[in-house]
Amino acid sequence: MTTSKFTEIGRALREHQHFAVLGHVRPDGDALGSQLALALSLKKLGKDVRVWNEDGMLEKYSFLARSDLMSKPPATAEDFDVAIALDTAIQNRLGTTVQAVRSAKVWINIDHHPSNPCYGDLVHVDPTAPATAQILFELISDQQLPIDSEIAENLFVAISTDTGSFQYPNTTARTFEIAAELIRCGVDVGRISQLTYENYPRRRIELLRELLATMRFDLGGRIASFSLSMKTAARLNVLPEDNEGLIDHLRAIRGVIVAVFFEELADGKVRVSMRSKIEKVDVCAICQKFGGGGHTLAAGARIRGTLAEVEERVLKEICEVVKRNS
Ligand code: 5GP
Ligand code: MN
Repeated sequence: MTTSKFTEIGRALREHQHFAVLGHVRPDGDALGSQLALALSLKKLGKDVRVWNEDGMLEKYSFLARSDLMSKPPATAEDFDVAIALDTAIQNRLGTTVQAVRSAKVWINIDHHPSNPCYGDLVHVDPTAPATAQILFELISDQQLPIDSEIAENLFVAISTDTGSFQYPNTTARTFEIAAELIRCGVDVGRISQLTYENYPRRRIELLRELLATMRFDLGGRIASFSLSMKTAARLNVLPEDNEGLIDHLRAIRGVIVAVFFEELADGKVRVSMRSKIEKVDVCAICQKFGGGGHTLAAGARIRGTLAEVEERVLKEICEVVKRNS
């Protein structure tokens, strides 16, 4: 794996003027928080920065400091010196933001997905980091880039959400040291955690009720899954972002090794979200068989077919892997 040193990336950030800071489609807290944090640091260096995500800012993360900077990409492309992809395992997950970048002398790719093929000119992929924002903190510290309470807050939310509130096994001592640093930079943990985890719209919990009604167990309870049809999603008026994290209710069940969430999409595909509780059952490898990717313990894919067909194919594959490895 090629890894550009922080000095090379730091130099590129200082030398150039026009930046596009991009993140993956259907963004999560790590993508949005990382994008805003890096953009704010670059702005403090006096740079011209665009912060684009195909989906724009999500309502649920609109409390992030300077969330107003995030927008959907414009229809007409712009020129840049540098385009930066954050938290994005493969370039096509940048979606329509790529077309809005007409030319960029340098592409920088900073990510923590092991399946990242290291696209771009300056690449820093560290699969041991629990969040892209943790790598950004290291870059900011190492290169003495600007940091303030707004930048710290964005990094904190990004790390907190990608580690499941500092619970997943990739959370290290270093992660807590960084969190402590971010608090010293001005993060109010109680306030920001409440905004992140205790501020859901009621429809999210109504969605959970519907999902639990479809809950199924396979292989003696070692695999748990639930699914969402477009019909139910329309009836409840849910936004795509409303289901982020609901899969954790399945993962939280004693005896469950793999949790799966199936979501019917409008394009004839099904979005599959997978979580594993043990390293031996690598859900990234399972998702890669279906054209997806992610991390060992958290991965996803978009698979063509009806909800029933995809459930059948995917659960069969998971059953075989779990049987062999647990
Ligand atoms: P989630 O289940 O939260 O959507 O995604 C879990 C992890 O799998 C994330 O790190 C995400 O980047 C990755 N992932 C989800 N869907 C896809 C996909 O369709 N393709 C790839 N390559 N990775 C995905
Ligand atoms: Mn991430």
